[in-house]
Amino acid sequence: MKTDKKQAKEVSVSCNDPNCPFHGSLKLRGRTFSGTVTSAKMHRTIVVEWFRLFPLPKYERSEKRKTKIKAHLPDCIKVKEGDKITIKECRKLSKTKAFCVIKNESTQS
Ligand SMILES: [Zn+2]
Repeated sequence: MKTDKKQAKEVSVSCNDPNCPFHGSLKLRGRTFSGTVTSAKMHRTIVVEWFRLFPLPKYERSEKRKTKIKAHLPDCIKVKEGDKITIKECRKLSKTKAFCVIKNESTQS
């Protein structure tokens, strides 16, 4: 994480977001997930979803279940619908947001 912060500061991206983990004062802790962007229409907020397997012991099989959550998008990260991204847990940023985007896997940087 510390090397990521240094790299982000060297790149001169205009980022005035106080809730940015690299340029602002937001602290990240907790769980990390990677998923697909399904909506990038909101201001500094995106919807991420990913699939997980839910075991059904009675039938000795698993069913596919979907997790869909909102995540904070800092100004310095560019994302479009369909991108693979990584999110990390932070404090509650709003009623429905407690995660922040830390990396866009689809863009080579
Ligand atoms: Zn930033």
